Amino acid sequence: MSTADLFQQHVLPTYGRFPLVPVRGEGCHLWDDAGKRYLDFCTGIAVCSLGHCHPRLVSAIREQAGKLLHCSNLYQIPQQAELAEEINTHHVRLPGKLFFSNSGAEANDGLIKSARRFGHHRPQTDGKPRFEVITFQQSFHGRTLGAMSATGQAKIQEGFDPLLPGFRYLPYNDIAALENGVHPETAAILLEPIQGEGGVNMATPEFLRAIAAVCKKRDLLLFFDEVQAGFGRCGDSMAWRMIAPEIKPDGISWAKGMGGGVPIGAFWLNDRAIDDQGTALSSLMGPGSHGSTYGGNPLVCAASLAVLHEIREKELAQNAILMEVRIRETITSWKLPVITAIRGSGLLLGIGLDPALIPTPEGKTPALVVVNQLMERGLLTPPAGPNTIRLLPPLNVTAMEIDEALSILKTALDALVAK
Ligand SMILES: *Cc1c(COP(=O)(O)O)cnc(C)c1O
Repeated sequence: MSTADLFQQHVLPTYGRFPLVPVRGEGCHLWDDAGKRYLDFCTGIAVCSLGHCHPRLVSAIREQAGKLLHCSNLYQIPQQAELAEEINTHHVRLPGKLFFSNSGAEANDGLIKSARRFGHHRPQTDGKPRFEVITFQQSFHGRTLGAMSATGQAKIQEGFDPLLPGFRYLPYNDIAALENGVHPETAAILLEPIQGEGGVNMATPEFLRAIAAVCKKRDLLLFFDEVQAGFGRCGDSMAWRMIAPEIKPDGISWAKGMGGGVPIGAFWLNDRAIDDQGTALSSLMGPGSHGSTYGGNPLVCAASLAVLHEIREKELAQNAILMEVRIRETITSWKLPVITAIRGSGLLLGIGLDPALIPTPEGKTPALVVVNQLMERGLLTPPAGPNTIRLLPPLNVTAMEIDEALSILKTALDALVAK
């Protein structure tokens, strides 16, 4: 029986899957079961930050697998401690503490729980706890009940109500809407510094600064969802530093690129004092407040350590910036009317498409039409909303690989638009 048939019989149809059956990967390339080779600018949606089967990552996994795969968070896991130190010292560079999860949605659930704890500790004037988290339209925070409720997209939530209460969705990059959006029960603001799934939209520096100012003025926590954008992808260790580097967030969530392909996520809380007694924000999530059986086990932490060491030592965030410049210069030089914008930062880029110029069959989006064309021609990319395709190559992608991918993109767009 074919893989597609097995899927149809045995796997819930939650994904509209492409027919591609991947069997092997190496660096920037992926092979399917027919032996066809693809340039992979999807990287498992910004997960394989070092490309496929990077030798340093593979040997870290092999070595750890032979020593100890899993124990329990009942014990002092050395790889987890070392990873937390690496992240604090070299990537966040602010005093704080981490909790390790298995995914981005879980990491965001951890931030939402932290906001609720904070709202109990710093209640409304009448003594009732604060609980509301402000998020933004077109955001994506994951698919658990909590993360889905935080997500500002009706299509993600359709048919799952009642949602978790306590979220308010404001327009992104709209400073005027911000001030009126804060209520007595509001405890935190959560946002992606660069929205990924929502179409690759970057926050303006003015918007991030206005959010930070409102948080300070109204005693709210400021959370960044760096699940897709973090750890070098956008040209700095953290995406918010590409926009307003002086901002000091209260919480951060990560997953995707931090593990290079192993399931790991994390959230971080600032050590800053949240009252006159000097209570640290990070102390609110004390013993018994949260947990995960797998979270931060020796295997995934050893893998993530190898990934983050490689990103830092080889200055891959810098490479992301160099490659972004190359992509922007090349695409701009084409002067193609079908390309309406290049959005994003580093190697989280969205290519906006003019829907009027792409012949789109019923039930498909222009982005899907282009993604299918690119796949046929040997380039993998994910869509981001109906009219945007994303370029998410590995952070160590070379100029030659970029040039090859862009030439496929140009040929495909020329052919599509000519029709
Ligand atoms: C992918 C993503 C998530 C969800 O991560 P999962 O690991 O799929 O749960 C959350 N936030 C952002 C910004 C993402 O891109």
